[in-house]
Formats: sequence, C-alpha cells, structure tokens
Amino acid sequence: MSDQTKHTANHSDHATLAEAFNADEARVNWHDETLWWIRQKRDKAAHTLPEWEQLRETASQIKHNVLSNLSEYLVQFEKQAKTNGAIIHWAADAKEHNKIVHEIISKHGITQIVKSKSMLTEECHLNEYLKQQGVEVIDTDLGERIVQLADEAPSHIVLPCIHWKKEEIGELFHKYLGTPEGNADPQLLTHAARLHLREKFLTRKIAITGVNFAVAETGEFVVCTNEGNADMGAHLADVHIACMGIEKIIPERNHLGVFLRLLARSATGQPITTYSSHFKKPRKGQELHIVLVDNGRSTQLGREDFRNSLKCIRCGACFNTCPVYRRSGGHSYHTAIAGPIGSILAPNLDMKEYADLPFASTLCGSCSNVCPVKIDIHQQLYKWRQVLVQQGHAPASKKIAMKGMNTVLSNPSLYKIAGKTGRWFIKHLSFTVNNKLNPWYKQREMPETPKESFSEWYKKNRKKPPSPKGE
Ligand code: SF4
Repeated sequence: MSDQTKHTANHSDHATLAEAFNADEARVNWHDETLWWIRQKRDKAAHTLPEWEQLRETASQIKHNVLSNLSEYLVQFEKQAKTNGAIIHWAADAKEHNKIVHEIISKHGITQIVKSKSMLTEECHLNEYLKQQGVEVIDTDLGERIVQLADEAPSHIVLPCIHWKKEEIGELFHKYLGTPEGNADPQLLTHAARLHLREKFLTRKIAITGVNFAVAETGEFVVCTNEGNADMGAHLADVHIACMGIEKIIPERNHLGVFLRLLARSATGQPITTYSSHFKKPRKGQELHIVLVDNGRSTQLGREDFRNSLKCIRCGACFNTCPVYRRSGGHSYHTAIAGPIGSILAPNLDMKEYADLPFASTLCGSCSNVCPVKIDIHQQLYKWRQVLVQQGHAPASKKIAMKGMNTVLSNPSLYKIAGKTGRWFIKHLSFTVNNKLNPWYKQREMPETPKESFSEWYKKNRKKPPSPKGE
C-alpha cells in the first residue's frame, strides 16, 4: 500500500499529501489536462440543451423539497419497497451499516461476494470490515477493480483510477491477471478484465450495488453504470443488497427524467449513462435487501448553512473543474469523497480530522457554476472555514498568524512599520523569507519588493488641489 493512497489509514493533511502527488510533475500535468478535457466535454453536452439552466433549477428545487420532507419520503419509500417484496434495513452509521450487510452475508454462509461501484460503501469502509470478517469482496467496476488490485482507495467518485497511466495498468494486470508483460493495449486489458470479472459474476451468490436514485412513489431504485456491472451482479446473484444514503430519495418516477439528463452530461459529457437500471422487486427465489444509511446525514440536514450539500447526485463535475483537485489528486483529500463536495461533507463527520479540507480551495466558484443541482459549494467551503476556526480547529500556527494580522491591520502606524520592516528584510536578508519553511516559496519566486509603500508614493505624487481664485 503506498503511503498516500489509503484514506482509511492516512492522517496527513491535504497540503502534505498534495505535495507527495506533486512530486511527479508529468503525472500532475496529464491528470490536470485529462480532467479539464472531461470538463470541456461536459460544457459541450450541456450546451446542446437549451433548457439546461431550467433543468438545473428544477433538479435543485426537487431536492429542496426532498430535504424539507425527507422523513415522509423515506417512510413512503419503505412502505412501497416492502410492498414490492424488498427487505428494508435502517443504519444510523457506518458501523451499523457494515454489521447489517455482514449479517445478511453470514446468514447465507457466503464468503465471496461481488460489488458494483458504491461510494457509500467506500464511505463506510465496508470492504475492509468484511475482509476482517473473512469475506472477500470483488469490486466489479473496472476502475474500482484496478484500484482494488493495487490496494488503493478510489481517487475520484466517477473515475476511480484517473490517476493511473495505461502502462501502469498493463503492469498491474500482468501481475494479477497474467496479461503479456509490457502490453498496455486498452482493448487487450479490457478483454482480460472482462474474462476475470465474468468468472466472479458467475460464481458469486451475493451482489452489492449502490443506488443513484430511490423513488418514494414506487419503492424502486435506479443504478447508473456504463459497464452494466450492477446488472450482471444483481441478476446473477441469489441475494441483492442495495446500499443507499438516505438523501438519494426522489419523490416521483417522473423526476428521474430531470436527474438522468443532468447526471451523465455533468459527469462525463455523455447524453446518458449506458445503463440506467431500475430495480423494483426481487425476481422469483431472490432476496432483495435495501439498507438505508444515515451516517451523519441528519446532522448535516440540521446545519442550515450546509444542508444543501445533501442535494449532491455524485456526478463529479465539481472535481473535474476544480483547479486544486486537478493538481493535487483525489488521495490528497484523505476521505472517500474527495474534491470540493467532499470538503463540505467530510467536516460534518469529523471536524478535527477534516479541518484542513475546506481550506483546500481557491474559492473561485467554478464548482458552484457546474453543479447540476446548484449547490453553493464555494460559499459552503468559505462558511466551513469560519465554523472550523470558531470551533478551535484551525492549526495553532494559523491562529497565531491571524491574531498577529488582526493587530497589524487594525493599527495604521503598526501597519506602516511592519511594511517597512518586511521590505527591508526581503531586500537585505531575503533568505529569511525565501526558504523552504515558507510554503509560498516552495512553488514560486517571491515578487520583488517595491522601494516604497503606496502611501509613501501617494504622498510624493498626489496633485495639489488648485488654489482658489484670487489667492
Ligand atoms: S456537488 Fe454538484 S457537481 Fe459536485 S459531485 Fe455533487 S452534484 Fe456533482
């Protein structure tokens, strides 16, 4: 396991982990360019729909309604799903979720299962938990399987192995799947993965899937994939376990049209995901379990400034556009859901552990501009900074520096003296500023200092007002 890859075992902060990612400049450059290319594809796809902004507004309003009436919709969903023949479980947190899933698995005496991509199970660290209980989980989404073979966590919610080069995947597959050494032909690698996964699908009796949308009106749920792996797993298994966060509810089936049109276009620039699979009732002889998980969502719902973050449909558009994410990589966020939205969700779970994340942003607002459900992401990041400082979670160095700045900036004479002293130091003892202890200096040259302050310049150059006539 590389030291910056498993968010579960890593407690370094974003800046330190980003520095590790930045050590490979070529990787940073293509990571940046690839994600920007996807962002541009998203723009083109969005511009093909004249009603794009109307769709975003509608989606945001639907989710607003859901968040305002969440308990009613959840009860309605439970009732309908039970009528359809599903077995419903409620989990207050990740621990309870993992326990419920394990109980279902052990009741059937199974030790090997397949799972299609589900960020909720990543959030709950289900794989690690089940491994400890002696259950082997095979992730069947290709990108997820790649990071799983490499013993890493996904670095992006839609593109889990976006940080991997195809040559590296070739080496990995040679090691684990026996593909020819040095061959990184994507077609060959995909074919090998397909054969490898097909055997797992055909032999595993239990399949776990995520849920993209759960319809309160009908008790059905929809899973969106491009590879069809959720369908393969669920259709071939005797037991289907669907794990969902409680915010995945939408009121009516009619609303799906709004979200499905937004989701794929925002995620990858596709008009629609290849598979948008509806699951309503278990087929004859099959068991269908739905695990509804809170894990901090009710707390976030109660935080007025941050409740809108629960509108997220996990499209990843805010990741692809974020200049910080693109150049620091997903693992630098040391949480299951990285990027701008992850930096809002994570402090809700643990303010101390994730106090660094809302500061990993330029607050440029590009994330809010692309978000298909119109979450005010950059404003929430800014608000989290205030909350975290007020709650005492800012690093001591930052607290001291801010106190010092406050004193200097609120006292004009002190400000002038500090400016003069600073300019003198930079000019005559530049090493006191231009050294590795100064994070700003690490990536850039410090600017040359002006000879004088603006107020000194202004005093010298300001035009004297014309004298009144006659004087
Ligand atoms: S916050 Fe918005 S842009 Fe980011 S993943 Fe969620 S829905 Fe997509």
